[in-house]
Amino acid sequence: MAIPQNWRLQHQRYRLTGEVCHTCGAKLFPPRDVCPECAKPAYEPFQFAGKGEVYSFTVLSDAPAGYEAYEPYPVALVKLQEGPLVTAQLTDVDPQDVRIGMPVEMVTRKLTEDGDDGLIVYGYKFRPVLKAAANG
Ligand SMILES: [Zn+2]
Repeated sequence: MAIPQNWRLQHQRYRLTGEVCHTCGAKLFPPRDVCPECAKPAYEPFQFAGKGEVYSFTVLSDAPAGYEAYEPYPVALVKLQEGPLVTAQLTDVDPQDVRIGMPVEMVTRKLTEDGDDGLIVYGYKFRPVLKAAANG
């Protein structure tokens, strides 16, 4: 049953697609079809830019099953430019270098390769925005 579920989640995982409320303009992530601000229906897809900053973070050393290879790893509450807070794993950074307010951007990374059918699951993580991206 994991494959259809992953297909369904693909847009949310790869492209940070949420929803926008046409009643009050709130941007929603993850998509929940009802605006938490005004309780009106919000079905319009909205593409987030995937940029934001670290709002708060913690370093996990007791990883859930399938994530052991990453421990210890930082997990942050990222405040997106558009407003919503997203919980995501940070990548390409040492846990001790993570700072609140650090600019970050979304990247697609392998999340886990366990699962009953050996499925490799990809999804979004956030990495620090490089000030000098000369080498790409
Ligand atoms: Zn609303």
